[in-house]
Amino acid sequence: MPRIAYVNGLYRDLRDACVNVEDRGYQFADGVYEVCEVRGARLVDFSRHMTRLQRSLRELRIAEPMPVAALAIIMREVVRRNRVTYGMVYLQVTRGVARRDHAFPPNPVKPSVVITAHALNYEKKQQIAATGIKVITLPENRWPRVDIKSVSLLPNVLAKQQAREEGAYEAWYVDRDGFITEGASSNAWIVTADGRAVTRSVDVGILAGITRAVLMDVMKALQISLEERPFTPEEAREAAEAFVTSATQVVMPVVAIDGQVVGNGQPGGITRRLREEFHRFSAFS
Ligand code: PMP
Repeated sequence: MPRIAYVNGLYRDLRDACVNVEDRGYQFADGVYEVCEVRGARLVDFSRHMTRLQRSLRELRIAEPMPVAALAIIMREVVRRNRVTYGMVYLQVTRGVARRDHAFPPNPVKPSVVITAHALNYEKKQQIAATGIKVITLPENRWPRVDIKSVSLLPNVLAKQQAREEGAYEAWYVDRDGFITEGASSNAWIVTADGRAVTRSVDVGILAGITRAVLMDVMKALQISLEERPFTPEEAREAAEAFVTSATQVVMPVVAIDGQVVGNGQPGGITRRLREEFHRFSAFS
């Protein structure tokens, strides 16, 4: 299987693809990223991901490296060259290359762009979704600007590793007031006993997930009621259902939280339905 990455204007074999050691992404995590799901070799909800990318760049005062239409062409080309029909495409934009100094480069530099893509195992993913995943909770320890999709992911890396070491797949952060914010790489949801979906509002403490936003359209169409409010680990453990959303997990059932079974320990009915219906409401490009 070919492994090709786009790096600053060139399509390169992954073994030879490299960035400058003074790239600010490498030295300061001074950059942002997006991940799109790939289905049928097409990009899922590409426009919404690009709107969020533009916002992240604006918030960090990094210039847009090129028009979105050009990014679309390159992302599709990376998908094609890697022969990905089902999987993910990753886009990273950093502030660029400059002599090491924390403050922005005094003379503007060109942002660096890296795009990679790889296949995921569809059957395996479906199997995981059929049994559901376990999550752990841990104290929120990220910076307050988690609304920016920054490549600075050290707390998320440590949280995921802790989850793995404890036999779980995802970690949910709990803020100082005792409410779940989101997962280390996903948004967190529960379903109440009377069938209402609950997730935290994007106003504070979470990333505005694209899957989360599309799922809200799905819920409206399926007449599943939605509450945007914080919830605690206790409420989550006692909920009828729980799940996470992200571009690559789509709607992934959660069957245990901190070792306590959710519902009957099987993926919930509403969760399964949302997963099945999701792509009827997403855009393909
Ligand atoms: N929160 C965090 C911290 C994430 O890393 C992700 C995945 N990128 C999400 C939420 C879900 O976002 P999306 O649905 O856009 O993938």
